[in-house]
Amino acid sequence: MELKKLGEFGLIEKIARSAGAGFPAVIKGIGDDAAVVRSSKTQCQLLTTDTLIEGIHFERALTTPYLLGKKCIAVNLSDIAAMGGTPVCFVVSLSIPPKTPYEFIHKLYQGMIHRARAFGVSLVGGDTTGSRDHMVITVTVLGTARTDRVIYRHGARAGDRIYVTGFLGDAALGLLLLQRGKALSRIRLLVAKHLDPMPRVAEGNTISRMRLASSMIDISDGLLADLRHILKESQAGAQIWLNHLPLSPQYRQHWQEGADDRYVPALCGGEDYELLFTVPLDKQKRVAALEQACGIPVTCIGEITAKQGALKVLDEQNREVAYGKEGFTHF
Ligand code: ADP
Ligand code: MG
Repeated sequence: MELKKLGEFGLIEKIARSAGAGFPAVIKGIGDDAAVVRSSKTQCQLLTTDTLIEGIHFERALTTPYLLGKKCIAVNLSDIAAMGGTPVCFVVSLSIPPKTPYEFIHKLYQGMIHRARAFGVSLVGGDTTGSRDHMVITVTVLGTARTDRVIYRHGARAGDRIYVTGFLGDAALGLLLLQRGKALSRIRLLVAKHLDPMPRVAEGNTISRMRLASSMIDISDGLLADLRHILKESQAGAQIWLNHLPLSPQYRQHWQEGADDRYVPALCGGEDYELLFTVPLDKQKRVAALEQACGIPVTCIGEITAKQGALKVLDEQNREVAYGKEGFTHF
């Protein structure tokens, strides 16, 4: 069967099935933002990996090696954040075409190391190979957490409210406008969100410490696509309220230059690396304290419903709005 037919997540499901049950130390294997492995009575380790490929995830002409290095780390730290954990160290696997200038690699590593160091994370190893045409960068991050405070994709229950950190759609809109050659000075914040995302590690930690969330994921493929993972793992449905989506001032100002629909980049655009989490009704009041601790907006955008797999997007008049492609997939 062609992978195109199977789809990215169909393939992952098949791989997960062939992997079988994990050994006793494995608390969570394939199927969340990071694997969870018991390391002591109370602590566990978190393990996650992500690849950035030239021509798919980045174009050398549209970024700098330094920013690319920062982003390779950020996207991995984001997965540790999504579990409520603390990142510790990372390894890098590099495949590079022989013609690549050394300076590029030097700056790439400077970016990785600076971004990692800001989160107390160190480089501890990797692997180097040649590649024919394109650069491939794979980063693997190890993190830690208290086992009883890890937040999974599977805990959402009907009635829980759905929250997101920060703003939605800026990264996707920034990329669209960058590709269209818009003047950088006007869209700087949007482009920065695409090229230099900030992983919400402190926010994930706080959410975990406050025991606020019943489930959590980071938004890498798009709000609807990533919410789908929570719904699948939690066997639930959801409603998203369009007029509650947090749109940044720059997004509001520029969406028409990049998109036909006001909400498509926010709903379906990838790479925001914000946290999406669900909060049981009796804990709603504590979200204000979370927002204050985080210093970024934390916004309620909808609610979890009982009907398994039913994901509805509602406008101000409570009418359902249909969106075709919900987010980025590889096949
Ligand atoms: P994220 O977007 O959070 O990085 P992914 O969609 O990449 O998550 O992965 C979802 C789950 O599938 C994770 O547990 C990941 O480790 C696992 N996974 C993805 N690709 C593979 C693969 N080729 N082999 C084994 N597990 C995989
Ligand atoms: Mg993730």
